[in-house]
Amino acid sequence: MSSESDEATYEKCHFTCVYCGFDGRTFDGWMQMTIDHILPKSCEGSDEPDNRVAACGSCNSITSRMKFERTASREEILEKKRQYVAESRRKFYRVWAERVMPRYLERPLLPLSSLVGLNAEVT
Ligand SMILES: [Zn+2]
Repeated sequence: MSSESDEATYEKCHFTCVYCGFDGRTFDGWMQMTIDHILPKSCEGSDEPDNRVAACGSCNSITSRMKFERTASREEILEKKRQYVAESRRKFYRVWAERVMPRYLERPLLPLSSLVGLNAEVT
């Protein structure tokens, strides 16, 4: 669940992922939004508002292992992350287009309750 400071960060970024442009304004979109630390906390990045941006879950995950020097500028890091996200999305797109889309896109969606193994957990 997002906090008030998370909401302020989303608002600052117009509820848009700063890396891929994902629209986080709808309910389903908002559910995918996360806070990204431009200079990651693992690289001693701060939790101050100027180091926080809105990112979709996919971009946050894709960039989660990137390392940066503490001296790198905000713009430099944002640009490197955007490039890496664009590259990763192209790779993932090829996998989806080759393996997933041809097999699954034409199939109808099933009701949640009919999905194997979920009956006992969904109430
Ligand atoms: Zn994104």
